[in-house]
Amino acid sequence: MADIREYTRTREGSTITKIAVNRDLCIAAISCIAAAPDTWELDGKTKIVVTDANSVDDATLIASAEACPTKAIFLYSADGTQVYPK
Ligand code: SF4
Repeated sequence: MADIREYTRTREGSTITKIAVNRDLCIAAISCIAAAPDTWELDGKTKIVVTDANSVDDATLIASAEACPTKAIFLYSADGTQVYPK
């Protein structure tokens, strides 16, 4: 079974309400952390986790997801639409 973790996002004004990461795809490239250091972290298995789902605005969050070379990060809006990757 895929190692997927989901995080609720409640940042005011944001259209993104859920962040999901497929940790099987994470290769610890840390591009996402470089783009949003307060949002992401590598755990003891050197796999991605969310430390603060609300720390950055939507544009920065999307940019950090786009920075991931393996597309391990998924963003969703409240109605379940996948915002990224499209
Ligand atoms: S950019 Fe992607 S592969 Fe790199 S640490 Fe973040 S989630 Fe993992």
